[in-house]
Amino acid sequence: MTRVLLALTCCTVALAAAAQSTQPVTIRVGRLIDGKGGSQQNVVITLNGSKIASIGKSNGPVTYDLSMYTLLPGFIDVHVHPSWHFGPDGRYQAGGSPEERLQGGIDNMKATVMGGFTTVQSVGEPGDITLRKKLQDDTLPGPRIITSAGQINESSGAARGQRGAPRQLATPDQLREAVKNLKANGAELIKLFASASIRDGGKQTMTDEQLQAVCGEAKDLGLRTLVHAHSAESIKASVLAGCGEIEHGVFANQEVMNLMAEKGVYFDPNIGLVLQNYIEHKAQYLGIGNYTEEGFAAMEKAIPLNYEMFKKALATPRLKIVYGTDAVAGAHGRNIEEAVVRVQKGGQKPMDAIVSLTSLSAESLGMKNAIGAVAPGLEADLVAVDGDPLSDITALRKVVFVMRGATALKHP
Ligand SMILES: [Zn+2]
Repeated sequence: MTRVLLALTCCTVALAAAAQSTQPVTIRVGRLIDGKGGSQQNVVITLNGSKIASIGKSNGPVTYDLSMYTLLPGFIDVHVHPSWHFGPDGRYQAGGSPEERLQGGIDNMKATVMGGFTTVQSVGEPGDITLRKKLQDDTLPGPRIITSAGQINESSGAARGQRGAPRQLATPDQLREAVKNLKANGAELIKLFASASIRDGGKQTMTDEQLQAVCGEAKDLGLRTLVHAHSAESIKASVLAGCGEIEHGVFANQEVMNLMAEKGVYFDPNIGLVLQNYIEHKAQYLGIGNYTEEGFAAMEKAIPLNYEMFKKALATPRLKIVYGTDAVAGAHGRNIEEAVVRVQKGGQKPMDAIVSLTSLSAESLGMKNAIGAVAPGLEADLVAVDGDPLSDITALRKVVFVMRGATALKHP
């Protein structure tokens, strides 16, 4: 009995001390959109450490009064290229020194998080790991970064031919080795190219056997796979090879949409930012690599095709459409434009666009128990916007408050 009393006394004192030293952070919001399809008015969110403790009603004083605004979970972009930037001459800097790419990444990630994106997936390069460490070590503002640390194509791991000769096709064993090497270098997922770029027609570039080797090996190592695929046949081959997510898909037809839905493969169509951004910044890309006049013509043509493709995807039962922008130089910080276009040009319901942008994308990352919703136990990754995005999706552009893991990076 004595022992129990003593124990109680000790803990009561400890709790009281904790309460005195760290008052829990509280946030009053006018409207809450929880990321899972729910919404409510006039609530107070209470935090505990980096996480959300509770959501309830209260009239008392709060740490942050956002009663004029709408609160949502931090946004998630599953397809970005953090280091892509314009160089000192204003042109796209395809190469650049590691220092220049790092600085580009620092600037881009600040713009991204200030735009409300608290988690991004980079698909990806080795420099992402340096960038993430730099942001952490120097406590610079940026989103949580998940990275593939590299990319795989039909020649990855193959012996290099003579200078100037086309690269050889990799054998399945060489591709499996390439997957293992990426994992050893810190890859948290595998990004591969099953088709050519839209600027080069988007045809299948990896054989079915190669796709099976990469996605099979990744699965064995516990890594997710994201496949760049435009043509219907490259999508079909990737899904049948057991890959987990399809990117872009401008030429996706109903057959492959049904197949993705049936196999539970995530689909990340990028219809609202990447191509529009290239066209807006044409002078800064033209003449570099496949950014030719023909390439730009192909991209202009693909924009309306993308809208029609997206409408078909929306109408496909059980197809899991996640939120990725393919943000490159010129697009960082404007990641929310994809949602605006999905609603305004693609006909998606605002609530569905928000669920895609938050909880569904979190699920695709295997992180639904950590991020993507405003719910007790999840990380306090929170964004407030001025206006009601359910009646006007462009309200998502007006970010007034950003919190990542309970650290406020921006507040009114
Ligand atoms: Zn990309």
